[in-house]
Amino acid sequence: MENCLFCKIAGGQIPARKVHEDDEILAFHDINPARPVHLLVIPRRHITSLATATEADVPVLGRMLAIANRLASEQGSPDGFRVIINTGRIGHQEVQHLHAHVVGGPEPVGPMLKRI
Ligand code: AMP
Ligand code: ZN
Repeated sequence: MENCLFCKIAGGQIPARKVHEDDEILAFHDINPARPVHLLVIPRRHITSLATATEADVPVLGRMLAIANRLASEQGSPDGFRVIINTGRIGHQEVQHLHAHVVGGPEPVGPMLKRI
């Protein structure tokens, strides 16, 4: 996908601090971390968002979660973590390539959302 930031990272055209790489999934540090541990796990193949994922994407989605789990432990959040997949306008998704945020660190990340 042209002009997609995360496709460019997956293709090596834009650098990232990678922590995992295989033939279908990549994980790297978020450039602007919100917590001491803040990773992004993405499929290499362009999927715009969770809203456009299909049944055919179930295996890669499952592997993203399994990799998120392993990386959270390895990267400094062994006592738990949070996975966030912002989706579309309502979910405040800024990069239009599916990605799972993995956030954590030594302290609890706090309430999930500010209540309205
Ligand atoms: P979202 O709002 O869920 O689309 O989040 C996009 C995330 O991508 C933000 O947390 C950004 O800090 C992160 N981000 C943007 N550009 C880069 C980059 N070049 N490398 C790593 N993370 C990035
Ligand atoms: Zn893309």
